[in-house]
Amino acid sequence: MVTRADIPLTPAINVPVTAQIEGAVPHYRGAGRERIVEQIKCELREQDAVLVAHYYTDTHLQKIAEETGGLVSDSLDMARFGNTHPASTLIVAGVRFMGETAKILNPEKRVLMPTLEAECSLDLGCPIKDFVHFCDTHPGRTVVVYANTSAEVKARADWVVTSGIALKVVRHLHDRGEKIIWAPDRHLGRYVQKMTGADILLWQAECIVHSEFRAQALERLIERYPEAAILVHPESPESVIDLADIVGSTTRLIDAVRELPNKKFIVATDNGIFYKMRQAAPDKQLIEAPTFGEGATCQSCAHCPWMAMNGLHNVLHVLQTGENEIHVEESVRVEALKSTQKMLEFAQQ
Ligand code: SF4
Repeated sequence: MVTRADIPLTPAINVPVTAQIEGAVPHYRGAGRERIVEQIKCELREQDAVLVAHYYTDTHLQKIAEETGGLVSDSLDMARFGNTHPASTLIVAGVRFMGETAKILNPEKRVLMPTLEAECSLDLGCPIKDFVHFCDTHPGRTVVVYANTSAEVKARADWVVTSGIALKVVRHLHDRGEKIIWAPDRHLGRYVQKMTGADILLWQAECIVHSEFRAQALERLIERYPEAAILVHPESPESVIDLADIVGSTTRLIDAVRELPNKKFIVATDNGIFYKMRQAAPDKQLIEAPTFGEGATCQSCAHCPWMAMNGLHNVLHVLQTGENEIHVEESVRVEALKSTQKMLEFAQQ
């Protein structure tokens, strides 16, 4: 039997994932859930706070964000939203780099996260010391990093990008004759390289969720549902991307469910996204793409274990206590702001 431990890890991503993911999130039902939801809404009002939740977080958190004037989106829009919303406190439900990005862009605001333990294998797989050495070993290249990185890595970069804007930015740089260092996601980097033809040196980390999607099992599913459109996030392996009808960011995949005429969709990204996809097209059938854990042996099974650490209980806790505030050292923040701001300005063009 194949287990998670059999997945070959690159040196850069040698992270004992299961050892780091602890703490079950309590699930509330019925009146208990209604009570805690009301408490959260009340605290948001009293604390002049707004909830910014990623698509991969708990459905109930996404719902509260929507109902209280917050946001449910991908990391690009999460970054933009915090920048423009007047609330003095941002509650960022997601993983650590998202809270840091909010703080980089909004130093005057209080940024709280439901948990500080929610990491990302891409961030963990790109330690600043090794990354600086890698960049210094290849001078003259423009350094482009994915948003899923620490504030320190962003500070070393020339550009920050999200999956929603990566192709446009790299095309732009390639057209200007620039050679590129890309970090940390190797699958997304390879996809960007293939689509743009740019000269790219790839860092070798990967997302533990998307890297589990498997092409052979997906082909079997496609045989069962030949009428389904295949939607794939570009953090997935190349063999899975090759089977896609649409490759794109989480927002792009939600749009595809709404816009394409198909009635069935096989979706290769975190299944937290199904909440928004069902809203976008309630009459359509969504099918999870198969992961490494077809035999229920995987650790992620198409759901990010770090995103799953965000729950009703810890959102209420940080609102009541002010714990888990995000701080970014000012000299790092100023440098990280330059590369992040470049992306936001480019996105407006
Ligand atoms: S789904 Fe993957 S890329 Fe997203 S936070 Fe989890 S580990 Fe990181």
